[in-house]
Amino acid sequence: MFNSYLTLEDVDVANKRVFVRTDYNVPLDEFGNIVDDTRIRETIPTINYLIDRNSKIILASHLGRPKGKPDPKFSLYPVAKRLERLLGKEVKFAPDCIGNQVEEMVNSLKPGEVILLENLRFHEGEEKNDPEFAKALASLADIYVIDAFGTCHRKHASMYGIKEFIQPVVMGFLLERELKYFEKALVNPQRPVVAFIGGAKVSSKLGIIKHLLERVDKIFIGGAMAFTFIKAQGYDVGSSLIEEEMFEEAINTIEKAKELGVKFYLPVDFVCGQAISEQTPVIEVAWQEIPKGWMGLDIGHASITLIKEILKDVQTIIWNGPMGVFEIDKFKTGTFGLAHAIAESPALSIAGGGDTDYAIHKAGVIDEISYISTGGGAFLQLLEGKVLPCLDAITRGE
Ligand code: AMP
Repeated sequence: MFNSYLTLEDVDVANKRVFVRTDYNVPLDEFGNIVDDTRIRETIPTINYLIDRNSKIILASHLGRPKGKPDPKFSLYPVAKRLERLLGKEVKFAPDCIGNQVEEMVNSLKPGEVILLENLRFHEGEEKNDPEFAKALASLADIYVIDAFGTCHRKHASMYGIKEFIQPVVMGFLLERELKYFEKALVNPQRPVVAFIGGAKVSSKLGIIKHLLERVDKIFIGGAMAFTFIKAQGYDVGSSLIEEEMFEEAINTIEKAKELGVKFYLPVDFVCGQAISEQTPVIEVAWQEIPKGWMGLDIGHASITLIKEILKDVQTIIWNGPMGVFEIDKFKTGTFGLAHAIAESPALSIAGGGDTDYAIHKAGVIDEISYISTGGGAFLQLLEGKVLPCLDAITRGE
């Protein structure tokens, strides 16, 4: 599917000025410290490859939402410092991403040296896909690398418009890896394939569920979404979160699964509380037994046993969304149970989406999941079958 896209290995980068568009939109705490540097670490193979080939490496990214003007709160300076530590070498930092001073700094780079430019979104032109801004960025380099998978669903200047002003535009190793795993899980998967989809709202995940139904052999719906499916069939769910306007779609989905021969699973028991709070009393009951005034806030132990049963014969696992309100300790067992069950399975597993990524880290099983996507929105768009517009910017080979 993506075979014709040029990658870093298809071009001669030796001694060239190579611009790498990364996604260093990392979470920061109130003091500006980096809370999770996964997105930085994942770009190290691309950078080291270029260092080894004596390229002059220009890194650029956005961070947060500075609204088109400089805002020190969103400076990429802490990222430059973290990169220095991870690379074990100096990383220069430019106070802007375009302009004379940046040009001078870039032109004085020696082979193998690295510079990180200041936040691209300090200029309005980035999000507006302004050609002048894209042209100014392009003028800094000979070769352009897109390695910002997490931003591939945004038609911004450095991601999309850039292709008009510099060629070739190639994929970095992070982007290539994301697409490779996506292909393995959804385009040419080893079967049977199972998808676990959790989260709060059917309305926000319906596109994903519909797309996956056509591609998987089994699907398990957890999180609050399960209650819309149960209630739509006429059963009581106490005070659990439901979306009445989604009842028809829920029934259609169950029918569609039947038609396609996809095994459709819902949780068989729930951990319930009287409020979404750490203090609420809890009970664990079968799905038919949720009392009035109680809401299901996690899947129960029988559901985790069911999940292990589902996993017994599968070869490929896709996971997005928590099984319960995992942010509260009392309701995290289901999500962690799923994470551990996936970790124990020898099947190829890919997982992604902000909450899912966080839950996997908290469950301590990052190394046991085959691939954790670095892109929240971009990953969800791929699961939904949407084309990522920025892939259009990549130069195609023969
Ligand atoms: P989403 O962004 O759609 O993936 O939803 C994630 C959110 O769903 C998390 O913040 C969870 O706390 C929430 N969630 C999961 N299960 C439930 C549930 N049973 N009741 C209420 N909220 C839930």
